[in-house]
Amino acid sequence: MKKYTCVFIDLDDTLWDFRTNAYLSLQDMYAKYELKRYFGSFEHFFRLYTFRNKQLWERYNRNEITKEYLHKERFLYPFRQVHANTTEDFSEKIGHDFLMTTTTKPHLIPFAKELLEYLQPKYRLSLVSNGFSEVQQRKISNSHLDHFFDHIILSEDVGCQKPDKRFFDFVLQQNNVPADEAIMIGDNPETDIAGARNSGIDQILYHPNTLKTEIQATFTVKSLEEITKIL
Ligand SMILES: [Mg+2]
Repeated sequence: MKKYTCVFIDLDDTLWDFRTNAYLSLQDMYAKYELKRYFGSFEHFFRLYTFRNKQLWERYNRNEITKEYLHKERFLYPFRQVHANTTEDFSEKIGHDFLMTTTTKPHLIPFAKELLEYLQPKYRLSLVSNGFSEVQQRKISNSHLDHFFDHIILSEDVGCQKPDKRFFDFVLQQNNVPADEAIMIGDNPETDIAGARNSGIDQILYHPNTLKTEIQATFTVKSLEEITKIL
């Protein structure tokens, strides 16, 4: 067994329950801006938003679009699909409100805090995230996760993002460790797992659903609790 000294951990949907927190925030936006005027139901709006958001994140992770475009377009798309007579400003307002609202939601992935409590005395921990700095910082402090980490490394501050090799090399450098002393925990097969592997870092894929993934990680777990058997 390798001797790891540093653990790198993703934030969204690995520690912080992005899916639940975003869903609740979208429900807030739906009520607050009376979106039932435009959509058959919340589920209808949610389906359109989610479809477009997923596409946009894939493009953002490939550096094909800016975050400004992503923020704007994911809320413009649902309105376009229902031919709603709304302005771009309206979409932008909802988009900004949504982002700030998500950061106030408290839900974490089951066992997230317990895992960090377990890892903290044994390893140096770095939080490594592709999200937007201002938003990610708020999430981390609102959910009281900051004190667990030696480093909080956000792509916007680094100037490149996971899976870029330069991002992982930067994280190694910050920790002053060789790649074989580090391991990356994340839920995204492309950005977290393939990215870490390209820099020679072992990986733990947190993969709670039953869908198959093409990408083979060093370890794959269905719950965060299982990680305590690996590390
Ligand atoms: Mg993630």
